[in-house]
Amino acid sequence: MPLSILSKRFAVFANDTRLGFRLVSRKWKQLDRTQRKRIELSAVLSLLPLSAAIAALAAVPTAFQLDESQMRPVIEAVATPSIAEQVAELVAREDTHVREVRVQRGETLAALFSRLGIDDASALRFAQTDASARALVRLAPGRFIQANITSDGRLRWLKAHGAGELDGVLATSRVLTLDRNSTAAQVFRVSESDVALERRVELKAGEVRGSLFGATDEADIPDAVAQQMVDALESEIDFHRDLQRGNRFRVIYEALYASGEYLRAGRLLAVEFEVGAKRVSAYWFANGSKHGGFYAADGRSLKQAFLRSPLVYTRVSSGFSSSRTHPIFGYDAAHRGVDYAAAAGTAVRAIAEGVVLFAGWQRGYGNVVEIQHDGKHASLYAHLQSIAPGLRQGVRIGQSDVVGAVGMTGWATGPHLHFELKVHDIHVNPLTAELPSAQPLAPTQLSSFAASAAPLREQLALLERVSIAFDRPR
Ligand SMILES: [Zn+2]
Repeated sequence: MPLSILSKRFAVFANDTRLGFRLVSRKWKQLDRTQRKRIELSAVLSLLPLSAAIAALAAVPTAFQLDESQMRPVIEAVATPSIAEQVAELVAREDTHVREVRVQRGETLAALFSRLGIDDASALRFAQTDASARALVRLAPGRFIQANITSDGRLRWLKAHGAGELDGVLATSRVLTLDRNSTAAQVFRVSESDVALERRVELKAGEVRGSLFGATDEADIPDAVAQQMVDALESEIDFHRDLQRGNRFRVIYEALYASGEYLRAGRLLAVEFEVGAKRVSAYWFANGSKHGGFYAADGRSLKQAFLRSPLVYTRVSSGFSSSRTHPIFGYDAAHRGVDYAAAAGTAVRAIAEGVVLFAGWQRGYGNVVEIQHDGKHASLYAHLQSIAPGLRQGVRIGQSDVVGAVGMTGWATGPHLHFELKVHDIHVNPLTAELPSAQPLAPTQLSSFAASAAPLREQLALLERVSIAFDRPR
């Protein structure tokens, strides 16, 4: 069994690694337990280059397999990098992190900086006024922007990439870089370059302490991947309600590299999440549609006909580390719906496709939208600050389309979304109602799904063993 051989090798290496860690000076002991664990895990995953191994194998993503003959040389090569050096580098990187976003339509540089968590007036002033940074000011929607920032929001560097999709042919990408230059009088410097792109597969593991996005930050998982984790599993997990401290997760995703340096995240390939005793997973599969889709291990489609929540779970809506976010006040029959506390202006989505039954003002409800989904189901969204433009009776709407923004119109004492679900005109509890699921995979596609998911499952299992091994109290 290749796996058992692998795990033995992991165990041997794990011991070596830990020995190595013990040798690393006082600096190591000064770190708190969380930081140590995080560095250990990331060091293990980068040193042992499981991700590199899989990256090499994943050059032809459909064909990669974890077989012993392919894994062995990689594992044996592992002992060569200096552990002390790697740890020192990880420690040095400790106080900064990289955030990654895509430019939104009509977004200003100031808004983009704030979304990236940059709190640096001189950097913003430079980007807005310097002639060489002008290309940056013309923010094209969809463009990837990355920023390396310190924990107090100071910008170290910022990179703007082309807006190309990962699916396309990989060649080169034009990158504009804004660097903080610590030596020269000129504090910032702009450079442009063409970089050759390379696709790799990354494996990461993490544990929820506050919010999901806090946990993905800690595990060094890009936001674009964290959001795909939510999208893939939101029919299985209600991220607003179900997440608890100690929930563990593992992910496999594609990333783009240029000249050996991480460029940006690509597609999520697989995710496994433990929520209490429940364990859910999702595997990406090229099902013949344009963007493929996510499926459970048994081939069940995770794209549901109905979303569980009308509010999307994002970094902003989830807060950074607060557990107070998104309280939901449970259903009671007299109240006929569920209330979600959320900041005014938060986007409200249609939980399924349908036709607008009503969009306008009603006493008590304030601005309200009601949607008929199929012969059976209807949903209602009330107290909206505003209704999406063009939404009126008879208009067709797609799943996840924005119906309006959270507000406090009508009889509401604070901003919240009042949400109702009806089955054959009778109110039901949206939190527990049985909802119709989407089309399953055709039987003819099931075997190719199983073949593409199998190596990912093995990798997730391996990742679980590695992360548990490093989590034992000592
Ligand atoms: Zn209500």
